[in-house]
Amino acid sequence: MTDCLFCKIIAGEIPSAKVYEDDAVLAFLDIHPVKAGHTLVVPKNHGDNLQGSSDADVARLMSAVRRVAPVVQSTVGADGYNVITNSGPAAGQTVFHTHFHIIPRYIDDGLVTWPHEGATQDQLEVLGEKLRGNLPKDAPAVCGSQGCCV
Ligand code: 5GP
Ligand code: ZN
Repeated sequence: MTDCLFCKIIAGEIPSAKVYEDDAVLAFLDIHPVKAGHTLVVPKNHGDNLQGSSDADVARLMSAVRRVAPVVQSTVGADGYNVITNSGPAAGQTVFHTHFHIIPRYIDDGLVTWPHEGATQDQLEVLGEKLRGNLPKDAPAVCGSQGCCV
């Protein structure tokens, strides 16, 4: 995608502080970190968001997230980390190329946590049934079936 910021970073047209790279994935430091070590992990193939990327690319992406996140945590001396993807403007997405944020967290760091709404068991059952009915009937791709791990 010629007009995509992260595609330009992947192509080396815009500089980045690289953390990890393989044939399918690039991880680099966020230019406006929530905390030092805040890392973005992106597939090299362009997709607008999680739904726009293939199962194979997402599998490689999550594998890289799992590899990189504990190293971010230990390197900056954090107590934990959040892995977040923002999908759509309502969720805070500003760059429309699939990416996961790895954000180092510290005990009592004062960063916001999600506020929770209440729900009755009945409400959960009704919504769960509706969601199950709306899911696509085809099985999720099995690792290896799209060449992701073979
Ligand atoms: P989003 O808001 O789409 O979930 O995340 C986009 C992230 O990209 C933001 O956290 C923002 O700070 C980061 N970002 C935006 N422009 C650049 C850039 O040119 N270089 C780097 N390294 N990060 C960027
Ligand atoms: Zn892109």
